[in-house]
Formats: sequence, C-alpha cells, structure tokens
Amino acid sequence: MTVIQDTQLQDTQGTGLADNYGRVATDLRVSLTDRCNLRCTYCMPEEGLDWLAKPELLTDDEVVRLVTVAVTQLGVHEIRFTGGEPLLRRGLVDIVARTTALAPRPEVSLTTNGIGLARQAQALKDAGLDRVNVSLDTVDPDTFKRLTRRDRMKDVLAGLTAAQEAGLTPVKVNAVLMRGLNEAEAPQLLEFCLEHGYELRFIEQMPLDAQHGWDRATMVTADEILAQLTDRFHLTPDDASKRGSAPAESFLVDGGPQTVGIIASVTRPFCGDCDRVRLTADGQVRDCLFARTESDLRTALRAGADDAELADRWRRAMRGKLPGHGINDPSFLQPSRPMSAIGG
Ligand code: SAM
Ligand code: SF4
Repeated sequence: MTVIQDTQLQDTQGTGLADNYGRVATDLRVSLTDRCNLRCTYCMPEEGLDWLAKPELLTDDEVVRLVTVAVTQLGVHEIRFTGGEPLLRRGLVDIVARTTALAPRPEVSLTTNGIGLARQAQALKDAGLDRVNVSLDTVDPDTFKRLTRRDRMKDVLAGLTAAQEAGLTPVKVNAVLMRGLNEAEAPQLLEFCLEHGYELRFIEQMPLDAQHGWDRATMVTADEILAQLTDRFHLTPDDASKRGSAPAESFLVDGGPQTVGIIASVTRPFCGDCDRVRLTADGQVRDCLFARTESDLRTALRAGADDAELADRWRRAMRGKLPGHGINDPSFLQPSRPMSAIGG
C-alpha cells in the first residue's frame, strides 16, 4: 500500500512507463491492423468483425512517430508488431525498417499467422526484423481448416520455412489448444517443431474472443498440456531461461537443447512480472490485454502534440494499470475489444 501512495505522488515527467505497482513496461506490442485473413474460432466469428475505418487507423508515419516516442523517450526496448494480421499491412516492411533504424535500436519482432510470409520474409529480414512468432495450432490440414475456417495450412508451412531460411530465428510457433478441435495435439505439434527446429510455445486459451465463447470449464489447461507432453517426451525445467518477465515456462525436451514453452495466462497468471504495454491500430494505449479502459494518443497526435506531450500522456496512461487481469475473479468482465483488435 505504501508503495502505491508513494508512487502516486511522483511527478510523471522523465520516467519510463511505470505503473503504481512497481512494474515498468519496456515491451510494446503494436497492432497494425484489426483485419485478418483467417477466422480462428478462439478469436473471431466466421463472418469477421466490423473493421476499423481507414481514417481511424494510424498512418505509417503516425505508427513510427509513436514507436519513436516509446523508444527514445520512454525506455521501451522491445517492439512486436501484431494485429489482426500484420502481414496485411502494406507499409509493414517500411515500418519495420524505420523502427530498426531508431537509436537505441529496439529488438523488433512480428507475430503472424504466416500467410504471405513466404513472400515477405527476406524483405522483412533485410529491413532488420529480428524474429517471428508464427501461429500454428495443428499439423493436420483438416483440423486447420475447421479451426481457422480457411484451407491455408500450406501457406503457413511455406511461411515458416521461408522465415527460417531468411534467418528470422529462432522461429517460434504459438499454439492454442481447443477442446473438441485440437485438444490432444500437443505431442504432434512438438514433434513437428523439433523436426524443423522451431521453438514451440503453447498459450492457454483466454477470454478474448469476439463471440464470448470462452468457457473455463472446458479450456485446455497448462497442466493438461504438460501431461500430454510428458507421456511422450522427457521434460525438465529449463533453468537457463529464467521466467522473469517472460511469460512462458520453458522446458528442455529430452535433455535439450530444444525447448518447449507454456504460457499459462489463466491458470498461472504472471501479471506481477508484466512488462508490456499495447498500442492499438487506431492509436489507443492499453496497459493490459484485459484492460477495460484505453488512453487516446491519436487525437493528441493529430492535434499537433509534440513528443514530450505524447510521452507524458503515455506515462499517465500507465498509472491506472491494475495489479492483475482478474480472469479468476467472480466479477471478471471480458474487455469490449477482442484480441484481434487489441493486438495479441
Ligand atoms: N494474426 C496473428 C497471429 O495469429 O499470430 C497475430 C495476432 S493474434 C491475435 C496473436 C496471438 O494471439 C496468436 O498467437 C493467437 O493464437 C493468439 N490468440 C488469439 N486469440 C486468443 C485467445 N482467445 N486466447 C489465447 N490466445 C489467443
Ligand atoms: Fe487472425 Fe490471428 Fe485472430 Fe487467427 S488469431 S483470427 S490469425 S488475428
């Protein structure tokens, strides 16, 4: 309690993105679009969503301006571009190039469904992109089609190969397991990733789908995923990758060196170590995936605010960050924006 009161009294000028619980955000997730060419059942309804209108979206210059403020004034040193599907953003390569040219140079990565990555991987590497996370929840084309409602698994596999060939390494694969769809596929996914040299991380399904279909009683938990994996592989804690603010618990597979990670956002929350902040494609700062409020930077930006004012608004936006996401509280309310509009 004392900490909270002390920090509340501090001037926000000149500090990084600190919140009232002693956490400092240094990892910025930037959503470049809310649109997507897949319809993953844990994310979007079949018919898609009401996409943001073009004038609402930050332009490429506006994205780079806010990223520049974050890196040069607010201590952010990791930038991850996401969406929606960020490869659908026409200016992506240029945005990446301008971000990697900043001093101090941030680490820059991309979370993508992989469709179109085969075409863009080399250009992204040349623009300075450091790494990619590709989402792939199944290695069975029929299950892929049911889960994403699109028959595009081949494109994703081609994207993964191209990313590795371009040196966007380590190539990470994100997988969400869904009851009744791919619930028992953890070992097959791990086998596939081991064979190709990809680093696999499972993410527990979170209540962030637009359809509000998440159900705690049926979600596939981290414990269940671990049980599936240990039936087939020998897993030992990967002490070298201490959890710190990294949300994945990492395990050496069959003695290593390859690893597998599990992000247990629901059953083992890591909010106390959170170092993230998000910027939506329409220029709103979100201090948490599950935040129920946002802070508008776009209006100030378009009204001519200078960098110092934008930085100050951003700092103030972080003060209200709650200590935890509260998914496990009886009073939990899902945020009004779904994952695809927030930027996962
Ligand atoms: N379209 C890109 C992709 O799929 O990688 C980037 C955006 S997507 C919202 C980012 C990540 O969020 C993906 O790895 C996806 O699997 C994950 N995701 C989406 N909805 C989720 C949910 N309800 N629970 C857990 N993870 C989710
Ligand atoms: Fe699209 Fe990614 Fe959502 Fe799937 S998880 S629908 S690929 S934004």
